[in-house]
Amino acid sequence: MSNPIISVQNLVKKYGDFEAVKGISFEVFEGEIFGLLGPNGAGKSTTLEIIETLRTKTSGTITVAGLDLDTQANGIKKIIGVQLQASGFYPGLNLIELINLFCGLYNEEVNALELLDKVNLRDKAKAKFKELSGGQKQRFSIATTLINKPKIIFLDEPTTGLDPQARRNLWDLIQDIRNTGTTIILTTHYMDEAELLCNRVAIIDSGKIIAIETPDKLIDNLVATGFERPKEVKKANLEDVFINLTGHTIREV
Ligand code: ADP
Ligand code: MG
Repeated sequence: MSNPIISVQNLVKKYGDFEAVKGISFEVFEGEIFGLLGPNGAGKSTTLEIIETLRTKTSGTITVAGLDLDTQANGIKKIIGVQLQASGFYPGLNLIELINLFCGLYNEEVNALELLDKVNLRDKAKAKFKELSGGQKQRFSIATTLINKPKIIFLDEPTTGLDPQARRNLWDLIQDIRNTGTTIILTTHYMDEAELLCNRVAIIDSGKIIAIETPDKLIDNLVATGFERPKEVKKANLEDVFINLTGHTIREV
């Protein structure tokens, strides 16, 4: 898993005088889940949207699957799947109608019910987008990224605002998608999510990458410095209690 599918070199993005991304470089390997991990305002969405060809960069070099962003943006658009924010969906159309609309846009044919199966939403096929719960909306929007059978999908904070069950359902879904060979780049500010889900993470803060590694290696490196948690952590936390009491299964209405 060391074949770079995305390569970003010295990426800079200025909004007026403000430098939001300050010369970052990283590679994403084929078949991995790569996380851009950082606080609000770190430059995660800016970086993602530049690679997605949706925002212009100030300087730097980006290639996606061997295609140069400056000269082959249209080629890049064809092989990536981008998750729309909830506001990007017609609220009054049902899920089948929305999938058919996307198929028309991408000039692709998919079996809508099979696609809904993948994200556990077959029973919501006739429901309108606006009638879905937060977790269901996220699962549906991830399903729509798969319509053009992309090599890489981009997820910007896929689990922000979801309850613990819905987050875990989404983690399973993201891992299922990776296991079919699709490369995934996502952003998050949740450390537990990055630790569980990502093969490697880049920690980004104020427009700079301060570490790129596997979560395991980052933790081992810290422990090797003699770091210890101030007090022993309990073997479970309140989230574990919640999940244990309410169950793991999908019960979003
Ligand atoms: P993140 O996704 O990590 O929260 P963003 O990439 O959205 O961060 O934003 C990085 C910085 O750039 C923030 O300080 C934000 O206010 C600023 N920024 C983002 N978009 C714009 C814009 N269109 N115009 C001006 N500043 C922006
Ligand atoms: Mg963001």
